[in-house]
This record gives sequence, structure tokens and C-alpha cells, in this order.
Amino acid sequence: MSDSDSRKRTMEPLITEAIAKRVQSILMKIRSAEEKAGRSVGTVRLVAVTKTVTVEHIAEGVRAGLSVLGENRVQEALPKIAAFTQMPVHWHFIGQLQRRKVRSVIGPFDLIHSMDSLELAQEIDRRAGEAGRRQNVLLEVNIGKEPTKAGFHPDDVVRSIPLMAHLSHTCIKGLMTIPPPTADPDSARPYFRKLRDLARQISALDLPTVRMDELSMGMSNDYEVAIEEGATLVRIGTAIFGARHV
Ligand SMILES: *Cc1c(COP(=O)(O)O)cnc(C)c1O
Repeated sequence: MSDSDSRKRTMEPLITEAIAKRVQSILMKIRSAEEKAGRSVGTVRLVAVTKTVTVEHIAEGVRAGLSVLGENRVQEALPKIAAFTQMPVHWHFIGQLQRRKVRSVIGPFDLIHSMDSLELAQEIDRRAGEAGRRQNVLLEVNIGKEPTKAGFHPDDVVRSIPLMAHLSHTCIKGLMTIPPPTADPDSARPYFRKLRDLARQISALDLPTVRMDELSMGMSNDYEVAIEEGATLVRIGTAIFGARHV
């Protein structure tokens, strides 16, 4: 059976199965992955990735237990956030963030997963300061050193972090990565491990304003492996809402 066959077979039923069922099943799989890894229950949070998903379908997921939602485009996210102000949900920004859009994400988003350069860090800090806030962020690391991908180069991140430690309106909470695409989830494991090692090295610097509490890694295809390697935030879209067509 080829790879694409096995993918089709696991993805097909998702289209007909209810969103609520998939949410329940993923929450259970997260719990068992925590247990299997010898981690305490509740140490991993599900970030449901809602890009391209309608407000109605998102609401179905929220009623089924989703509480953290991830979006990667500012324009698409803001009206959705406005539609959910009465619901107990938190929004995370997970996409590439242009500097001119920074002002719009300060406030609506509790956590920015994708701080990918020093320049962006400075802009976030400046805009958060203007808004009288302290913005929680993760540093995105281009763990596979892919030329087309955003993020700090893994060899630079430990050196760059002290340059951000003085930012007074930014709270660095951890690291995020999107590993290179792999045929099977286990091939992503070395990348997840590498991100965890980087977080350890950064922790050892003992910078007062930098914490390494969060590791945002793992998506629909590989979140269980990511949890075994220490993920605290898994970003899952397709496995909840079905394949995206745009
Ligand atoms: C779309 C997206 C995801 C979710 O991917 P799935 O494979 O659909 O689970 C996770 N992280 C980021 C940054 C994304 O853009």
C-alpha cells in the first residue's frame, strides 16, 4: 500500500464523521499519548487550527470541547474572533506575521507562535507597549534549515535569544516548529527532539525574562510522536475539520 493510499484511507471517513466525534477522539488520543510518555494528564493543550473553517463548524468544535483556536491569517481571523466573544475560547496566531499586521494581532491573540526574526520581535514589543500590554510569544525555529521556511535558524537561536531578553512588553514562553514534511510520523521525531534540546540550552542561559515552558510542535499527522518528545501545544486542523480545499 502506497503512502498516499494509506493517507486516503485514514482521511476519507473524516469528511462524513461529525466534528464533535473527532474532537473527542483527538482529546482522548492526546491523553493516552501523555500517559504513554509518562507525562501528567493535562500537560498538552490542543490548539484547533481553524483556517478556512466556517464559524458554524468552529462553533461545533467549541461545543465539543475545543478551547484554544489557531489562525494563520489576520484578515481571516479577526471576524471569526469577533463572532466568538461570548464563548470561552482563546485565540493563538500561528502563521507568518508581517510587520505591518502586528498592530492588529496585539490584543485579540493570547499567544503568537510564529515570532520568526529579531525585527519582528522589536515590532511586537513596540506595538504591545503602545497598547499597554505584554504579549506572549513563541520563537519559531526552522528546525530542518529549509531555505523556503520562516523561522530562526537552529544554529542562531541560542545566540539570538539574549538580544530579545530586554524587551519589556514581550514574554517569550517557548519555541515552535514545523518540521520538514516526512512520509511517516516517526521520521519527524529527530526534529522534535532537536527543538526540545534547543529549549533546554536556552533554559540553561537562565535569562530572567525568558521561559521555556511551551513547545509548540506536532500537527494532524504526527502529534502523538510530538507529545512523546515533549510537545505542550499541538496544532491540529485537518484531523478535526477535514481536508482543506483552498
Ligand atoms: C495549518 C497549520 C497547522 C495544522 O495542520 P494540519 O496538518 O491540518 O493539522 C498547524 N500549524 C500551522 C502553522 C499551520 O499553518
